[in-house]
Amino acid sequence: MQWSVGRVKVTKIVEQESLGGTRFIVPDATPQDVQKMPWLVPDFADDQGRLKMSIHALVVETPSHRIVVDTGLGNDKEGRPMPAWNGLKTPFLETMTAAGYPPDSIDLVLCTHLHVDHVGWNTRLVDGRWVPTFSRARYLFGRTEYDYWAGHRDDPAHPPAPFDDSVQPIVSAGLADLIGPEHRIGNEISLIATPGHSPGHLSVLIDSDGEQLLLAGDAAHHPVQFAHPDWSATVDFDPAEGRRTRRALLARFADTPTRIIGGHFAGGRIVSDGDAFRMVMDAP
Ligand SMILES: [Zn+2]
Repeated sequence: MQWSVGRVKVTKIVEQESLGGTRFIVPDATPQDVQKMPWLVPDFADDQGRLKMSIHALVVETPSHRIVVDTGLGNDKEGRPMPAWNGLKTPFLETMTAAGYPPDSIDLVLCTHLHVDHVGWNTRLVDGRWVPTFSRARYLFGRTEYDYWAGHRDDPAHPPAPFDDSVQPIVSAGLADLIGPEHRIGNEISLIATPGHSPGHLSVLIDSDGEQLLLAGDAAHHPVQFAHPDWSATVDFDPAEGRRTRRALLARFADTPTRIIGGHFAGGRIVSDGDAFRMVMDAP
């Protein structure tokens, strides 16, 4: 799937799709509640009230840069909290290449945050070692986010696997740049600090020729949270801050032409609906 934003092109590369799983992601979203939101069907839920989600990377092609925003789960990784995320052998890189983006054509990798499903393809396994997948690229990690995870590698509440096999090898290879929300890429890309889901979560705003697209990362996991911004994801780091961030982000872009793509859903516009919001699909 592909979107145009002025002179910028955004391509979604899907790694994994799922149906259901509300219990693990947004536990408040019971099938009965989801069925009360018919606007979710068929793009974001089925008529049984099961949520549709995906794990994907977004390739952003500006006039000056080819950027991968978030890198999914990756192949051959182990020690992940979900059995279906271990030992993957997906054709993700082949899909990317077929879409016109071979790994060595990528200039920048930007991780909205350093959770397991957003850093995986940073590295791949070669002769028993984790090496950078995008060998020509600089990798941009939020400084706040990086510092937190680097400081909690020995914390049993946070399995160290994603950091050790998908973040540290990039730093060791000298390819990482730690950035703050003021960082800009070319004329088109700016960042928005959206903490809560993780300590230093960043969202990406593309602005080109009067058009805007927000890559929200996991500030919302599913459009069901547009209607219920107070519903948290089980994996939110600071649920209260996550709720404030989500509500502020939705309010800022509601009823504007700005489109939104999330870390696990794509893509439409936010419209206000009573004291909350809903999503309207747009044609890619
Ligand atoms: Zn995620």
